[in-house]
Amino acid sequence: MFKTLFIAGFVCGVCNPAHAQTSFPVKVIPGAVPADRSPDGNTVIFEDPDGLIVVDTGRHFAHQAAIIAYSDARKKPITAIVNTHWHLDHSGGNQELRVLFPNAKLYTSHAVNGALDGFLAKELERSRAMAADPKVNEYEKSEIRLGISALEDRKDLIPDVPVTGDMALGRLALHLAPFAATEGDTWLYDPQSRTVVAGDLIVAPVPFFDTACGAGWRAALDKVAAQSFDRIIPGHGPSLTRGAFEDYRKAFGRLLDCAASPAAAASCAEGWRKDAAQFMTSDAERAYADRAIVYYLDNILRVPAKQAELCGAQKE
Ligand SMILES: [Zn+2]
Repeated sequence: MFKTLFIAGFVCGVCNPAHAQTSFPVKVIPGAVPADRSPDGNTVIFEDPDGLIVVDTGRHFAHQAAIIAYSDARKKPITAIVNTHWHLDHSGGNQELRVLFPNAKLYTSHAVNGALDGFLAKELERSRAMAADPKVNEYEKSEIRLGISALEDRKDLIPDVPVTGDMALGRLALHLAPFAATEGDTWLYDPQSRTVVAGDLIVAPVPFFDTACGAGWRAALDKVAAQSFDRIIPGHGPSLTRGAFEDYRKAFGRLLDCAASPAAAASCAEGWRKDAAQFMTSDAERAYADRAIVYYLDNILRVPAKQAELCGAQKE
């Protein structure tokens, strides 16, 4: 059913008009961010005459079902999967897609290898204990089992084609951001639609620093800023204009400057709330951002040994 090529001339609303005759739509499947369970990252699907390149695959079956439905609607196979990073809300659906499209090659950085033996190995152990705990309710267990099955399936998380620097995937330019939100984040640029996909280099309402190197992340945002583009799609939440991206980058830099200063963590959180006000849409998000910033400063950004580890000092 996916064998028929569909190469009709297609006028694309977001593409450069000069290329309209040969352009295909860029599809965004927004990741859900429900209050009562773990999120899905955004998926972005790029199309060429031969098939679809799927950037990030979500965590939940409903998200993967939407990706498969799109492939079906476009009558094209998934030929490649890109994971912007190894967090399971972005890579947990690789397996589900490759059951249907076993030839889809996975592009991501080597960082997942270290994560599978470290951070994710601990998560797997914790998850198995919770799945066996009679005090944990069935709903929670169904969430936990999703993570377990993704982690037990290492082959669908490890890259077929590692992203080790700047490289091409069809018309897309893939870039490695070393030691940023994770040890190796991948972001990409599509010249046809002038779109950047940033993964979790941009996250609202607050950057997730759990596995992050602050300095490397700042450098990654500076590299993205050097790219000419019209819109940028974050790992979670709606697309940003160039101007909104610059606001985010400025707010991020000021947050790191505050973290490096003697200022109280609460005042850094207050600064973020002002600088990044446009990326928070409710009081609940503002309160969450406050708590998260204080936590990240106390536990990650202001802990020199932790930052040294996350910034790769031990690998030099
Ligand atoms: Zn994420």
